[in-house]
Formats: sequence, structure tokens, C-alpha cells
Amino acid sequence: MASITTSIFELLKIGPGPSSSHTIGPMRAGFDFMRLIRELPEADRQSADDLEIRLFGSLSATGEGHGTPRAIMSGLLGSQPDTCGADTLEQFMDKDKSFDLDLGGKTLAFAPGRIIMDAVQHDYAHPNTMIFRLKVGDRILLERIYYSVGGGFLRWDGWEEPERGAPLHPYSTMAELKKHLRDKSMRLHELILANETAITGATEEEINLGLDHIIAVMEQAVENGIRTSGVLPGPIGLQRKAAAMYDRARQEYFQGPGFIKALNAYALAASEENAAGHCVVTAPTCGAAGVIPAIIFMLKRHTGALQTEVREGLLAACAIGFLCKHNASISGAEVGCQGEVGVASTMAAAMIAYARGYRFQVTENAAEIALEHHLGLTCDPVGGFVQIPCIERNAMGAVKAFNAYLIASTLDESYQKVDLDKAIRAMAQTGRDMSNKYKETSEAGLALSFTEC
Ligand code: SF4
Repeated sequence: MASITTSIFELLKIGPGPSSSHTIGPMRAGFDFMRLIRELPEADRQSADDLEIRLFGSLSATGEGHGTPRAIMSGLLGSQPDTCGADTLEQFMDKDKSFDLDLGGKTLAFAPGRIIMDAVQHDYAHPNTMIFRLKVGDRILLERIYYSVGGGFLRWDGWEEPERGAPLHPYSTMAELKKHLRDKSMRLHELILANETAITGATEEEINLGLDHIIAVMEQAVENGIRTSGVLPGPIGLQRKAAAMYDRARQEYFQGPGFIKALNAYALAASEENAAGHCVVTAPTCGAAGVIPAIIFMLKRHTGALQTEVREGLLAACAIGFLCKHNASISGAEVGCQGEVGVASTMAAAMIAYARGYRFQVTENAAEIALEHHLGLTCDPVGGFVQIPCIERNAMGAVKAFNAYLIASTLDESYQKVDLDKAIRAMAQTGRDMSNKYKETSEAGLALSFTEC
């Protein structure tokens, strides 16, 4: 099997919520299509009189609630996920309001309401398909079929893996990773750092600066969330809960149940910021963007973890995220929520164990326990909004991560009978067997049990 060559900063990306597949990927597609248009011959650009954009699969089923048309609009108008402001998507709330797209020497008016929600069931290569066409009359001047494959990653027909360096310590499974660590007497974070340097060419100092920035954005999302109350956007009218939960935890001096309440509050906070369309980090996706920030906040505020320990823990979490992405999926549209909140919780459990200095085997066991107890978790967001069950599910994912760490670090390592590779294979198989109705299409389950929106 091919070795893992995903970069840390492809897995952990900064961008607007509420769904990396539905906002970050489509925003990138809009930006990329405008770049292609501007490379067309002058005569084609001048003659173009129409832009056709069609969304398929879960992008069609839940794109409206997830803000996909607004994300595409901001990409078409030049926004990139990692630099867009908190209110970038909010300016496109009026579906009929037209904006002038700069084709390069010519403008073309386009409104978010012109984006077509096409078939939910289709035969394209990935559930999350987008077709972009620049036209003159019925003639197509330019077409690209994009796939938003999860976590904000974008592919298209004809896409080729960009040239990148070979990893210094190649692996595709946890078994191979462990062999490197054993044979070379390395620690996990050292191996991930060395691979990142070889793959991307970035120096260790640059990688650490990037990690510190990611950690700061995560902490900011928690800070913002625990200070904000009110109702989240959308027809559900969902009340934010993080601030009230945090207040209760503080009244209990963060002791006993108060500690668990605080952990819940931190995860709710970052998830509520995501649901509001504000800036978060895909960890590994926007929908699951509350779990790892909650654990980072907890480690720093409640255990006094140093920045270096948090950074090293985050590198260990990335190793787990890479394995899940490579051997299963991190897309709710492919494998359900086990690939989103399930993987986030798995990464977070590993992060706590590693940051607290436990042996590597405890880190793997914590990850395995967290993943095992998310297997089969479906994705059925109510009304297509990343709110119910997503926000509370992040809180559950954070608490489960902490519990997985407690089990793994308390009991003898030899009690563990299932390894992480087996749990990841089980997630992939469960995802293949899962009905499409439970893969981010809002066609079944909890999504249908709530009819008021
Ligand atoms: S249910 Fe899970 S996978 Fe589905 S949108 Fe919500 S967080 Fe994402």
C-alpha cells in the first residue's frame, strides 16, 4: 500500500464552518474555477455570458443548510478559507442578490440562488460532486467536475497528486509506524516532524510556528464560544449552550462533575462557533471541530500542560488522523459520523495520553478505545444544519476521548485485545455497509424525527 504523504496542514486547516466538505472544499472550488477562467483566451472570456454550477449528492441534499452556495460565492469572489473573515459567508445570505464576478477584463453577474441543487443519488466518482461550467449560450467554454472529498480536500477529474517529497519514515499502518519507532528508537512526534519536513520542505521551526497558529485558532474558537450566548443561525432556532455550561462549571470550581461540565462547555463552544459559520480548524473536519480544541483547552487550563507538550500531543493526534484518513475516511458523506466526530475523538484520546507523557502503547490503546466506541455512528443532521446532533456530539466525543484515555492509562496495556489498525479497518467496512441515507443526506434517522425545520 502507498505510504502516507498527507501534510499536517492539509489535515488541520483553518477555514469557515459549518462543514469542511460543504464550505471549505466548495470555497476552494469557486476560487480555483475563477483562476481557470482567467487563463482562458481573451475571446472566450469576453464572449462568456453564463455560469452554471450544479451540486450533487450530500452537497445537494444538505448544501443549503451547510452554507455551500455562500461558500462557493465567496470563493468565486476571491476568498480563500484560511484568510477569510468571520463574516465572509454572511454577506451572501440574500440568495437573489447578484455580485459581479471578475472574469479578467469582463464582469459577469451571478447570485447564490442560481446554484442548482441537482440529484442526490448519482453516478459520479464521489458523493460530494460539483460541476462548474462557463458558457456562451448552450456552448460550454470551460468545465470542471470537482469532488469535495472530506476535511476540505478537493479533487477533480484529471487531478494528480502534487509533486512532494518522500516521507523519511514511510508507513501506511500503525504496525509499520510502530516498527519505525521501535527500530529507530524514535518518539512519535519526532517521526511525524521528520516526515513533514521531508514531504513539504518546511523547516522544523516553520512547522512548529504553524502548529502554534493552529492551536491559537482552536483556543480562540473556544474562548469566543464560551463568551457568546443567543441563537444560532438557521430555522431550528437552536440556543447556544456553551456559555451557560461554562458558568455552571465555574460555580463548581471545575471540580468533580464541574470538570466534565467544563470539558463539555469547551467542545460546545468551538462547535457553536463552527455552526455560526465562524473560523475554526478542521480537526479533522469542521463538523468535528470542537473535540480537539476542547482537549487542548482542558490540557492547558486544567493540567498546566506546556505549549511543547500540547504541540507534541497534536503531532501524535495527526498520526492517528492520517491513518484513519488513509485507511478509511474522514468524510461523513463516505462513512458517516464515525469518520468525523469518531476520528476527532480518536485523535483527541491519543493526544491526551501522549501530551501527558504515557508510553506509546497507551497512546495507541487510547485511540483504539475511542474509535471502537464510535463505530457505526451515522450522519443525519437535522434540516441539513451542522447543529443537531453535531454540536452535542462534539461534547460527547471530547468526554469519550477523555474516558478512553482514562481506561488506557489506568489498566494494564496487555488487557487490550484489538489494535488500532483493526478498528480502522472495521470503520471502513462499516462505512461501506452503511446506507447512503445515513451519510450526510438528511434522508433518515434523527434528521426525519424533527419536522419543524
Ligand atoms: S452528524 Fe457528524 S458527520 Fe454529520 S454533519 Fe454532523 S458532525 Fe458532521
